[in-house]
Amino acid sequence: MRVLPMTQHAVVISGAGPTGLVLAAELALANIDVAIVERRPDQDLAGSRAGGLHSRTIEVFDQRGIADRFLSQGQIVQAVGFAGVRLDISDFPTRHPYSLGLRQNHIERILAGWVGELKVPIYRGTEVTGFAQDDTGVDVELSDGRSLRAHYLVGCDGGRSVVRKAAGIAFPGSDPTISNLIAVAELAETPPQWGVHRDALGTHALGRVEYEIRNGAIIYADHGPVGILVTEAQVGQSAEPTLSDLSAALITVYGTDYGIHSPSSISRFTDAARQAACYRNRRVLIAGDAAHVHPPDTGQGLQTGVQDAVNLGWKLAQVVKGTSPESLLDTYGAERHPVGARVLRNTMASIVLRREDERTKALRETMAELLGMDEPRRRFAADMSGLDIRYDFGEGHPLLGRRMPDLDLATANGPLRAFALLRDARPVLLNLGEPGGIDITPWANRVRSIDATYAGEWELPGLGSVAAPRAVLIRPDGYVAWVGDEARSGLADALALWFGPPAAG
Ligand SMILES: Cc1cc2nc3c(=O)[nH]c(=O)nc-3n(C[C@H](O)[C@H](O)[C@H](O)COP(=O)(O)OP(=O)(O)OC[C@H]3O[C@@H](n4cnc5c(N)ncnc54)[C@H](O)[C@@H]3O)c2cc1C
Repeated sequence: MRVLPMTQHAVVISGAGPTGLVLAAELALANIDVAIVERRPDQDLAGSRAGGLHSRTIEVFDQRGIADRFLSQGQIVQAVGFAGVRLDISDFPTRHPYSLGLRQNHIERILAGWVGELKVPIYRGTEVTGFAQDDTGVDVELSDGRSLRAHYLVGCDGGRSVVRKAAGIAFPGSDPTISNLIAVAELAETPPQWGVHRDALGTHALGRVEYEIRNGAIIYADHGPVGILVTEAQVGQSAEPTLSDLSAALITVYGTDYGIHSPSSISRFTDAARQAACYRNRRVLIAGDAAHVHPPDTGQGLQTGVQDAVNLGWKLAQVVKGTSPESLLDTYGAERHPVGARVLRNTMASIVLRREDERTKALRETMAELLGMDEPRRRFAADMSGLDIRYDFGEGHPLLGRRMPDLDLATANGPLRAFALLRDARPVLLNLGEPGGIDITPWANRVRSIDATYAGEWELPGLGSVAAPRAVLIRPDGYVAWVGDEARSGLADALALWFGPPAAG
């Protein structure tokens, strides 16, 4: 076989789904030479998957200045929920107290556009088939016979991740108990009613792909293809689903298949829930669905993947540049594995509560009553919207390890939104006390320092008011790494821990 020359990149990402695209953008913002290998020949997505973005994901995009690209294309809606109970977050202290209805194909198109602006090369129509790693890098094998040499490889290649398997990372969890078909097709007859239908088998739904949200209600278009979700009578089918599988499933549930024909996509998903035992094997990492799969109920998968990517991107960039030791990469798994585990727990619980037997119905009604009370609603909604994620940085001010709120700050140069400080994905020391009072000269080449004032209340989703801090150290992913006290104790340690040792004076 002819040996082809080996192309080098600092980081190679397997998979240009939402996770891979966001990770690539984060690395490109940090001026890292990153490339993506993607199996699909273009960004087109067969079949329907995620239906939108929850609040924290919109905030994450707002931190990078791209939230408007999504907001202008989607529809704002209160869509945070648990076990079918809708949890209103319109009173939450965030600039985005809502979810955004926007299908995954549009989300991916917008993300691919951003990645294109950042000039990340994508090797399309090519698969990662395996890799070999040594002490200095990884040789990434491609399906076209080429290989790429990289310092690091990140598997963002979905639930059946080749990278996770080749890395020998275990994927324990629970096998499916429910199997669903999801499809887009034409119906010769219009069903008497659009929308969700539940029975002993499970949840089913029919609705035109084109719809509008008016006063919180979905208004379907009069014509056009139909989105179909139907629970199958049998679990465990492994063959690719066909039109006759779909027709049979519809007849079982509705007594008719409404003359279904011309499907543009048919896929199967289950309630299997699995999480990788660890997120790193030396120079190989995994993120997104490659690291965790769970039922789509409550709409968490894409959000969790995007936030994995934003957690990992700046850390990997610093390690590649040599400003931080490799051990910084261990904080990625340490922080994101518990978040993934919680998502699995919530989605499994939500799915169980959707069963239609009398006992589960009673339990669901009890749960709905509890979630109707203000405190449980606020707690659960903060969890499901991603707004109350807290990384464990030890004891301290409630802001420690939580997201920095997007405050309207006043600076010597005029008003400034806190999120605008995070546009270029660099860390920020925000001094809210005496101007010029904090000196971080040994980190000045890595950490931006800014004096500002803020007169309003400090309020955190799910928690309420907290004491105003005198200073905060904000990581590039928007999480607070240090909260200032009078003595500024621990600041140098926090700067060194997260952003590398001080530069020699
Ligand atoms: C029916 C359904 C509804 C959903 N609804 C929601 C929702 O409402 N909200 C939500 O947040 N999430 C939802 N999800 C989950 C969401 O779709 C996923 O969590 C999300 O797509 C994960 O993104 P990812 O980039 O990690 O993986 P993927 O989207 O799976 O992307 C992986 C990419 O890697 C590529 N690839 C795979 N193998 C290779 C290889 N060997 N070499 C190169 N490329 C490779 C694939 O082509 C793909 O582009 C839903 C999922 C389903 C199935």
